[in-house]
Amino acid sequence: MPDNLAILSASEPSPFGLENELGTSPFVIVCEHAGAGLPKSLGTLGLDKEHLARHFMWDIGALDLARGIAQRLDAPLANQRYSRMICDCNRHWEAETFIPTHGEGIPVPANVNLTLAERSRRRAEIWQPFQDGVENMLNARDVRNQRTLFVTIHSFTPVFFGKERDVEYGVLFDRDTTLSPALLKALQARHGDKALPNEPYDMNRDSDYTVPIHGEDRGLDSVEIEVRNDLLTTQEQIEARAEDLVYALREAAESLGVTTDNQEGGAAL
Ligand SMILES: [Zn+2]
Repeated sequence: MPDNLAILSASEPSPFGLENELGTSPFVIVCEHAGAGLPKSLGTLGLDKEHLARHFMWDIGALDLARGIAQRLDAPLANQRYSRMICDCNRHWEAETFIPTHGEGIPVPANVNLTLAERSRRRAEIWQPFQDGVENMLNARDVRNQRTLFVTIHSFTPVFFGKERDVEYGVLFDRDTTLSPALLKALQARHGDKALPNEPYDMNRDSDYTVPIHGEDRGLDSVEIEVRNDLLTTQEQIEARAEDLVYALREAAESLGVTTDNQEGGAAL
């Protein structure tokens, strides 16, 4: 692609989607891998069409799950529409995997040997607007003196490089010592070791961005929830998991002394 072309055309949506911004819940829900969208200018990234709906392009079921949770809680929902193969909005832009050259072993031809200008443009047009959107949303809550419990929603593949995963819920955190253990306790009370801390992978500042930077570094009670995506294949399953997670999230909030009853006017809690 010539260096003078933008990635997104004027008719394509911003990477940052925000629903129910003024929801009254203390919870804020974020879904960074919500979409498998590909800007027209980048075609299929050189991938065969059969790969375009696969897990490595996006988090299957995660947006519908996040929506089910946000609606039940009356929480705002921030989401990112473009495929993580364009660039990963849950990575620092300097991370090696910011623009993946492979998705679960499948090469992504258009991501190999990118020029610095091409990398910079993905950062400027996809990553930065999403990060700015999350930050602005959180700043606006501060101005309204609205308490925030920060939750990101992801899904993971049940079989990774041939290895089956038994865990159903991963509760991921780096430095959080409040919401994460409280949520883990609430989930384990119902699901035992089907809910585990930092599984199927742990969180660190090379492989994650949203919770460590927007959440923990800001001093927010924060957690990333990972759900196995074979549990999210029908709308009925998704609603059941949303119900289950809302129950656990409310219980976790209450154990931190935060009321989750929907409130008028976004008052401080
Ligand atoms: Zn994800």
